[in-house]
Amino acid sequence: MPFCIAIDGPAGAGKSTVAKIVAERLNYIYIDTGAMYRAVTLRALQRYVNLEDEQALTDLAASTRIELSAGYNEGTRVFMDGKEVSLAIRAPEVSRSVSLVARVPGVRKELVNQQRRMARSSNVVMEGRDVGTVIVPDAQIKVFLTASANERAKRRLKDLAGQGFKITLGDMIEEINERDKLDSSRAVAPLVPAPDAKVIDSSKMQTHDVVELILELVRRRSG
Ligand code: C5P
Repeated sequence: MPFCIAIDGPAGAGKSTVAKIVAERLNYIYIDTGAMYRAVTLRALQRYVNLEDEQALTDLAASTRIELSAGYNEGTRVFMDGKEVSLAIRAPEVSRSVSLVARVPGVRKELVNQQRRMARSSNVVMEGRDVGTVIVPDAQIKVFLTASANERAKRRLKDLAGQGFKITLGDMIEEINERDKLDSSRAVAPLVPAPDAKVIDSSKMQTHDVVELILELVRRRSG
């Protein structure tokens, strides 16, 4: 059984940064499950699919081929039907709509099946919202990484500025609050910590300290 480190939590908690470093240190594959919901959302926006039409979104998820490159430090490159969409899926329009797509049970079923296959085939650090609760409930390590809304908005803003997207702090706070509300209140696989997850509030922590904390959990677990 491959080893799985599940890192869940709300937007902007620092999951990607931490997960990438942990994967690199352990030589595990890093998997960003949110990128897959973003890819389906991008496709829906490109095709003018009504985001209330659950059947159309489910069909889209089933017919879109999503591939994640198994990179370590450079992060995941994302391909949709063979075309690279790594940057396009980070656009603010996608961020604003992704939670509407991710709440559709048929979309989740399709992507969770693909994500489980990935987790079964190698040692992984998998980040998302439902890794420890739904995708890999028997993951050896489960972390729920969180931070204050203000801190999370500032971090997301910095990431996006680095990718060339401009958005104000006020709009960012509004976006992540709205996304967290939808993600936490949806009927299927809501954003909640698994009962056996280690909850880490990273508001006042450096990335390095969060990484070390997770590596220590892994060391203890592996004896
Ligand atoms: O992680 P990221 O912020 O890129 O995720 C984008 C969105 O995808 C989340 O706000 C959530 O709606 C959805 N998501 C999810 N389940 C996951 C990963 C992401 O519902 N495992």
